[in-house]
Amino acid sequence: MIPVVMYHHINSDDLPLSNTEGMMEAHLRLVAERYTSVFPGQDAANPICLTFDDAYYDFYHYVFPLLKKYRLKALLAVPSAYILDDTDAEPSTRLSLKHREIYKGDHWRTHAPFCTYAELREMVQSGHVAVASHSMNHVNLTDEGIDLEQEIVTSKIILEEKLGFRVDSFVLPYGKYNAAAVALAREHYPYVFRIGNALNPSWEGIGGLIYRIKGDALRTPDELFKPLKQLGFWFKTIVKLLKGEQ
Ligand SMILES: [Zn+2]
Repeated sequence: MIPVVMYHHINSDDLPLSNTEGMMEAHLRLVAERYTSVFPGQDAANPICLTFDDAYYDFYHYVFPLLKKYRLKALLAVPSAYILDDTDAEPSTRLSLKHREIYKGDHWRTHAPFCTYAELREMVQSGHVAVASHSMNHVNLTDEGIDLEQEIVTSKIILEEKLGFRVDSFVLPYGKYNAAAVALAREHYPYVFRIGNALNPSWEGIGGLIYRIKGDALRTPDELFKPLKQLGFWFKTIVKLLKGEQ
């Protein structure tokens, strides 16, 4: 089974979608001891795939140094409309916004709360980070009037041009999807990720979608690896497989 873990923020006021810096380091140290972190499609004896959504600047500031320190890999899901080429903003400014302020008005431009393309390139070139498309505008793909072609296909083209790196993963914003969105995503990406707290028998996922377990708001560094929690993931995986569910 391939466990894929989903994280968002570090040190954010949005507590259900965040871990503290200390918790993340203790957790990643355990991950490095017990697993081999892989990018989508890669095999290992005891694999785990770490994914971080939304490409907040706190990823570059807190997590990227930890990935280097513990020799780990992570997939970063990027909503390309919010990404600046570069910024002069100070780290303190970039980390200062409350979560609900990040997407308001032109804060993404004035406060640069997301990673820049310069930072994304540096991380990809380090070999510790791969980039996934997380749509262009971070929209719910099932909403009326959404331009699926732009959100799913153009977002990939932009990231590949800016980064000079093949983007073969798509992470569904809010974990939401319908048949049209999944069909288009599967046509353009070998790996399409959702939420759902199940494990994956292979990189085919279940019904063509790769499930992720929640890694935010950890209460202990080893919370995800505790037997009862693991049993829950296995149970859910078997139910999904039996139902042949997406
Ligand atoms: Zn997201």
